[in-house]
Amino acid sequence: MKREHMGNAAEEALMQKAAIERMKNFLAGRHPSYYITTLGCQMNAHDSEKLAGILEEMGFVLSEQEEAADLVVYNTCCVRENAELKVYGRLGYLKSYKKKNPNMKIALCGCMMQEPHVIEKLKKSYRWVDLIFGTHNLYRFAELLESVYETPGQLIDIWDAPGEIVEDLPSIRKTSFKASVNIMFGCNNFCTYCIVPYVRGRERSREPEEIIKEIQCLAASGVKEIQLLGQNVNSYGKTLQNPISFAQLLYKVSEVEGIERIRFMTSHPKDLSPELIDAMKNCPKVCPHFHLPLQSGSDRLLKEMNRHYDKAKYLDIVRRLREAVPEMAITTDIIVGFPGETREDFLETVDVVRKAGFDNAFTFIYSKREGTPAARMENQVDPEEAKTNFEELLVVLKEVMDQRNERLVGKTLQVLVEDVNNHDASMLTGRSEGNYLVHFKGGSELIGQTVPVKIDEQLTYYLVGTL
Ligand code: SF4
Repeated sequence: MKREHMGNAAEEALMQKAAIERMKNFLAGRHPSYYITTLGCQMNAHDSEKLAGILEEMGFVLSEQEEAADLVVYNTCCVRENAELKVYGRLGYLKSYKKKNPNMKIALCGCMMQEPHVIEKLKKSYRWVDLIFGTHNLYRFAELLESVYETPGQLIDIWDAPGEIVEDLPSIRKTSFKASVNIMFGCNNFCTYCIVPYVRGRERSREPEEIIKEIQCLAASGVKEIQLLGQNVNSYGKTLQNPISFAQLLYKVSEVEGIERIRFMTSHPKDLSPELIDAMKNCPKVCPHFHLPLQSGSDRLLKEMNRHYDKAKYLDIVRRLREAVPEMAITTDIIVGFPGETREDFLETVDVVRKAGFDNAFTFIYSKREGTPAARMENQVDPEEAKTNFEELLVVLKEVMDQRNERLVGKTLQVLVEDVNNHDASMLTGRSEGNYLVHFKGGSELIGQTVPVKIDEQLTYYLVGTL
């Protein structure tokens, strides 16, 4: 029942709601179980919340265990090779469970499915996968699943390009007080190492009215903290019929009653405007945390990466951010071992790490992604050399983070309590406004509340304090 016709966004939303209703009738009071594994970034995590929302609306219930679920979903990532290998490994493992439970359905979606060589491989060697769909038609999950239940066999539906932004479909959140909100999809930047623009398509922004409406509903249901998501939030709104800047959006979101904290991710340094820095200074609800991917400190490599900034510009942004908001925590992403990286290039990165004084960083060894310009570069770095530099970078980062964290010892931070600590049930875990992970003694009745915690100790990756 694969439908070729593409309606407008409102028609599409209605069609999906109708498919959900038909699935509800089909299940007729039965509650099959589902299990979703999400790989990759926060975009994927939020997409999985939407998949879960659709499933629960149909009557599916969450399974504790993947192997026992009636429907297993893998929301995949293709940014690094390891994440792809993991999916193939799990599919092999699930095959035997599907033999024991022939009613088990397996669905694959997400970025990896947008790669033609992956689809070829799945078609040929993984015939027991029931449903394969991509990033552009994720909103059609209800309709696709209905087809799978109607007609046995493998259903593959991959679109080359995005359709309209379909609003107003169900979504389930992990916590009742924190929520992610997409403000845009796709990316136009084509950093030479990155596969995202090929699998997520060009930049499309949501209308500000739709975003605000969603946030108002979230606030009404008790959400206090909003995370605005986009591959490059700094270019939000530029292509809308009535253009609006990301800074203007932040002011609008700040006005929503009930929302106490606003975060956002990710910002490309090349598009960061003085207006945004002003908005961060002027909107008390916007958290003093900025995630600003560096990738490399070498001007030569930044050019090869097609990043459109250099080391001096990057450090200048860091300076301006901390000048505007002195307590600003700055975190980053760094790639080690990009093709052609020399020891000198690497030391430039180390220099930025020290000068910027990062509060935290996601560090990666370069992973070659088929189809990207960097994968075709001839001067790939010896993995051993990349590993040695990577380990050195971690040592420097630890030193820098320890220095930064020390300033917080003795201070009182406002912490939004998220959960009981995984390792010690007498402790709670939460996040400060600067996005620091904070552990402290307390009862679970505080979950969802913002409480003052005095920091007693810093342990690089988290802080320990007293309520
Ligand atoms: S900005 Fe660059 S790294 Fe980020 S998603 Fe776009 S292409 Fe990838």
